[in-house]
Amino acid sequence: MRHRIAVVGSGPAGLTFARVLHRHGYPVTVLERDPAPDARPPGGTLDLHVGLGQLALDKAGLLAEFQALSRPEGQAMRILDPDGTVLRDWRPRPDDRANPEIDRGQLRDILLGELDVEWGRAVTQVVPGTRDGVLAHFADGRQETFDLVVGADGAWSRIRPAVSSVTPHYTGVTLVETSLDDVDTRHPGLARLIGDGSVAVYGVNRALVAQRNGGGHVKVYAQFRAPLDWLTNLDLADVEAVRSGLLALFDGWAAPVLDLLRHGTAFVYRPLYVLPVSHTWTHVPGVTLLGDAAHLMPPLGAGANLAMLEGAELAESIATDPGDLDEAVRAFEEQMWARAGRWSKITTAGLERLVSPDPAEALALFDEVQPS
Ligand SMILES: Cc1cc2nc3c(=O)[nH]c(=O)nc-3n(C[C@H](O)[C@H](O)[C@H](O)COP(=O)(O)OP(=O)(O)OC[C@H]3O[C@@H](n4cnc5c(N)ncnc54)[C@H](O)[C@@H]3O)c2cc1C
Repeated sequence: MRHRIAVVGSGPAGLTFARVLHRHGYPVTVLERDPAPDARPPGGTLDLHVGLGQLALDKAGLLAEFQALSRPEGQAMRILDPDGTVLRDWRPRPDDRANPEIDRGQLRDILLGELDVEWGRAVTQVVPGTRDGVLAHFADGRQETFDLVVGADGAWSRIRPAVSSVTPHYTGVTLVETSLDDVDTRHPGLARLIGDGSVAVYGVNRALVAQRNGGGHVKVYAQFRAPLDWLTNLDLADVEAVRSGLLALFDGWAAPVLDLLRHGTAFVYRPLYVLPVSHTWTHVPGVTLLGDAAHLMPPLGAGANLAMLEGAELAESIATDPGDLDEAVRAFEEQMWARAGRWSKITTAGLERLVSPDPAEALALFDEVQPS
């Protein structure tokens, strides 16, 4: 029996879910509010772990495509003191494929493949338990009914209220993102500082992280503890005012490190929100959540990986044993909650140590997790 299944959101979670169902010949409707795949900048690079994101790609039959495009050398990581002293300079072995980096746009394109996404279809609400199934309401006033709606619609999910009244809360850490283009030609000194992967500089309650993406593009993240209204007196469109605000915040740091901010182009403001650690809900037939919609956590290299593996696992269990859809979803939720709860604890504790009153904590965390 083929159930009417819709997934809301075409991020890593939604696309992996749809792609694995598709691989098993199982139909799925993919609903995405963006009008086109490239309607927004895709965001920074992602590292996909061997037992998480890479496992999901394997289940989707896409691991070889990932291996062809990903950057194993991007795993390199350098840590500096605010005065510019190099504290750690870790490089992967040539055969190390544990966490290669891939640009989000490339990952999206691999996952999209031949999938038929319904672009420009923003879901505003779902109502489970109607006579004909789960009723989805769209921003354009239309309605459709499904047997299962999977909310893979990210941090501010419109599907989540159907199963949980919990909303994300601010972590106390704000991230301001900027970019450098064509870094090898235009900023060779910074290119050397960043190397093949990332450079991170940890100070008291603040950090600067720069990550190389493909094509000479670099994303720079200024991270600091601040009230939510940090930006109130600054206009994001006033690039020089934001730059001055950030340079004041990192005053006294070594000049080459501050050049990451001096040469940055536009700034994007990202206060970090999370859902409570171990967020669960009472199972609601016909609706479930994946990825950030289910367990938004600090961005410490786990969110997209978990989102993808969950998408793959839920799709596999539906496609391989389509008899009792509700039971498959229920079992999946238990598995997702247990694993996401563990990662949520790890990343929450990690954020506390990386943006901490004691910068030695960040170094200690690096030494604990990095293979020697
Ligand atoms: C700066 C930063 C760096 C990160 N680095 C990493 C990393 O290196 N590794 C890692 O694993 N994770 C990383 N993460 C976390 C990762 O980005 C997220 O966990 C991941 O994107 C979650 O995927 P998702 O599919 O659940 O949600 P999303 O990626 O948020 O996708 C949700 C999709 O749903 C769509 N949508 C939203 N609302 C609606 C609606 N109402 N109707 C229809 N469609 C809708 C959106 O347009 C979007 O396409 C990082 C996060 C940040 C902020």
